[in-house]
Amino acid sequence: MTVDLQRTSALSSKTTGVQELLWTLVGFDTTSAKSNLALICFVEDYLKRHGIASTRVPSPDGTKADLFATIGETSAAGIGLSGHSDCVPVEGQRWSSDPFTLMERDGKLYARGTCDMKGFLACVLASVPLFRARKLKEPIHIIVSYDEEAGCTGVRPLIARLGADLPRPRAVVVGEPTSMKVIDAHKRIDSYRTRVTGREAHSSMPDIGVNAIAAAAALIGELERLGADIAARQNDPRFEPPYSTVSVGTIKGGTAPNIVPKHCEFQWQVRSLPSAAPAEVPRDLSAFAETALLPRMLQVTQEAAIDTETKGSVPAFVARPQSEAVALALELTGTRHTHAVSYTTEAGLFEQAGCPSVICGPGNIAQAHAADEYVSIAQLEACMAFLAGLADQLSD
Ligand SMILES: [Zn+2]
Repeated sequence: MTVDLQRTSALSSKTTGVQELLWTLVGFDTTSAKSNLALICFVEDYLKRHGIASTRVPSPDGTKADLFATIGETSAAGIGLSGHSDCVPVEGQRWSSDPFTLMERDGKLYARGTCDMKGFLACVLASVPLFRARKLKEPIHIIVSYDEEAGCTGVRPLIARLGADLPRPRAVVVGEPTSMKVIDAHKRIDSYRTRVTGREAHSSMPDIGVNAIAAAAALIGELERLGADIAARQNDPRFEPPYSTVSVGTIKGGTAPNIVPKHCEFQWQVRSLPSAAPAEVPRDLSAFAETALLPRMLQVTQEAAIDTETKGSVPAFVARPQSEAVALALELTGTRHTHAVSYTTEAGLFEQAGCPSVICGPGNIAQAHAADEYVSIAQLEACMAFLAGLADQLSD
């Protein structure tokens, strides 16, 4: 059975407020390439209606913004609850229903962003009346970011202000989908673009040209070889897979089948274990280019070149020993075990900035970024219980 939540009044009573908030949040198309300001306005208004002021941290071009809001006593450092507002595109995916309208089917709430990570934001907003009603000994800070899906770039200007004109929380919970498990480590990402310049020629005379696509194919083959070498050497069983990985994501080049191509470029990523040396793969690829490819290419034309540029990095996350953020999440979830994940989040950036962090949020990462993304109502209930426990712990 499918229920459009706009029309139904028979929602699970425990989570009606959360579901209505989630319905509103997913209605804003906050794909990373688009503005998130409509969503930010909604959150600002919602908080204002509950007597809470918030601070916007606008993007350099003013089309997006982060939001920071504090509930309760400001003399103590407090706990940050952090979530990104943006989501990944739906283009090319086959959805069973409109990705921007929340639909319930069998206890699961479907729409883009439900799992990653508007479900968490909805739980935090739905808990605001409770946070307001309790006499909090130390504050709860709500942090909403943009462009997390574009290399975790949006939260960085906000983090730069923590401890300056914005309070620095003593612990931050990043509510990415972990099925409410406690995550204390993740891998690092480095993204690169490699451009190959060759020489055009008639395809009947390939020897007087330098085939940029063929050189790119050799480089990609080398990346595959380097990846296999790393997989054979590294083994950290906390991670799945237990080694750093190398992956090529895009390639473009050439103009026609009868022209030896002059240009080819491809984008690739290394996702490194926190203990691995992230510069190793680009260094080895460059050494391969210098010795195995370029000498031959330069014999034909001095224009031949292979250039690799860094497109962005997201630091690994490793919670500090005896992290108070991890201790808090373990207590609130009633578990003793932490886990590590291979995807990246904003937690490494918070940790680097001196805010002990932990990742714990509703929904399963398997549904994130996929068609028919969903979060289960049971997961939202678990997150609401976590936030109610936090309110208990912070109040008298
Ligand atoms: Zn996310």
